[in-house]
Amino acid sequence: MATKAEVAKINSGRPTRFCDVCGQSDTHPRHVVQLPPDDTAGTPTDEWLAGVDLSGATAESVRRLMAGDLRERHLDCCAAAGCPTCQATEEITDGARGDDLIVAVTQPSELLDKVRAVGTEGGQDG
Ligand SMILES: [Zn+2]
Ligand SMILES: [Zn+2]
Repeated sequence: MATKAEVAKINSGRPTRFCDVCGQSDTHPRHVVQLPPDDTAGTPTDEWLAGVDLSGATAESVRRLMAGDLRERHLDCCAAAGCPTCQATEEITDGARGDDLIVAVTQPSELLDKVRAVGTEGGQDG
């Protein structure tokens, strides 16, 4: 298992991003999903935006939130929304969250490599 210092080092290079499912912003791993050009399902609605706390958001995280057709979701939120890639990742990482999940997905793992190989169409874990 990685030490706190190692986790801090991994974390320091990670962007703060929103999750378009739950609306939280943090550095936890995301599934980046590219929507088809005519897909409006992932577009933040007024209702969703009203529930999001933008006061502590970084400019970069807001820019990413509003960027075109890319959606960034916590792996557990994405899994709950029915994504098979994230459901498989959740199973392999034993439902790890936050720093534990960052460590789990950044360590070499043959099982996770297999999931990524299947799930690379239109997205990436990180
Ligand atoms: Zn989320
Ligand atoms: Zn996913």
